[in-house]
Amino acid sequence: MKYNFADRINHMDSKEISQIMGTLSNPKIISLSAGSPSMDLFPVKELKECANMTYTDASSSIFQYSTAEGFLPLRNWIVNKHNLENNTSFNEKNIVISNGSQQGIDLVSKTFLNKGDVILCENPTYTVALSTFKSYECNFLGIESDEHGMIISNLEKAIESVSNAKLIYIVPNFQNPTGSTWDEIRRIQLVEVATRHNLVIVEDDPYRDISFVPNVHSSITKFDSFGNVISLGSFSKSLCPGLRLGWIIANNEIIGKIALAKQVTDVQTSYILQQQVYNYLTKYDFQKHLKNISEVYKDRCTLTCNLVDEYLPESVRYKKPDGGLFIWLKLSTDVDTLKMLPKAIERGVLYFPGELFYTDRSTKNCLRLNYSSVKKDKLVEGIVKLGEVFNK
Ligand code: PMP
Repeated sequence: MKYNFADRINHMDSKEISQIMGTLSNPKIISLSAGSPSMDLFPVKELKECANMTYTDASSSIFQYSTAEGFLPLRNWIVNKHNLENNTSFNEKNIVISNGSQQGIDLVSKTFLNKGDVILCENPTYTVALSTFKSYECNFLGIESDEHGMIISNLEKAIESVSNAKLIYIVPNFQNPTGSTWDEIRRIQLVEVATRHNLVIVEDDPYRDISFVPNVHSSITKFDSFGNVISLGSFSKSLCPGLRLGWIIANNEIIGKIALAKQVTDVQTSYILQQQVYNYLTKYDFQKHLKNISEVYKDRCTLTCNLVDEYLPESVRYKKPDGGLFIWLKLSTDVDTLKMLPKAIERGVLYFPGELFYTDRSTKNCLRLNYSSVKKDKLVEGIVKLGEVFNK
């Protein structure tokens, strides 16, 4: 049988990512590649108690079909947190619960993208977002960033260079893959430029709660007076990814369309799970949990930086992140990290080659290290091995 697959499924394929995923399950290989939080930090006992409460105490309506927007008490809880942290004034009508931030990206794409539309994004950026956008047959303009965020003059030039710019996609806090954070001035400038050009900004912010510094910059929604910012959030890094719970916050008109997209995609996110997580958030000390996990990740991050200084070539450059799960290494320009990957796997260590995060795959000499998912002894072992690979 010769199958006539849709073009979009081929746009989603990356043989390199499949190879990395295939290697992840090999217990002999230390993985510093996946974007996973640490399994030993998941509040499993508490979540089990909350599941029990859900099945014993909750109203039977949560077992029925319900509205696409999501479980009202959870929507209120998330919106209140967002408003308190960012001085915004959203309400329960401004939010849709999604199956993780990943579904948020997909629903926004479904809502806004026509074939040939142009997405402006950081370069490098979250590779699975690129694949999602590609599946809607759009094109990219990758915009260079410095240590403060995207370079706004370059963004403006890029917008003006095409007739069909549609969305600006950014990860403003502890970015995947670079770990970098936008400062407040760039956030304000971004909104100003997007508003002037009638573009929607998609702020993808799943790492916000994993901060190593006391104050996280405000969400871009704080600076938006015209309703052109969409904010995506997630419990994947703060609780656990297996829940598949995230959210989309935006103005009424946008959120109405996104709710329609959600309904035709999967009707609703499980209300049973939403009740379970709502129980957790209201009966346990979520802030304390965030403080605990952020401390562990900060510790692992510092150790990783020290190990990189000690074991990797002197030419390696990186900026220590203020939060999140990743460190981005720049090696000397003659190194091709994708070509080096089989050698690293042979040595028993896995990293994520930087090239896969670029819209045009133009930069070969970078790699992303994840420090959150392995314990300290394995971090040491893994980075010593990495040093052996790149010092040859
Ligand atoms: N956006 C970014 C920037 C991410 O790094 C990830 C996960 N690695 C996601 C979205 C998807 O996360 P979720 O589990 O919430 O779908």
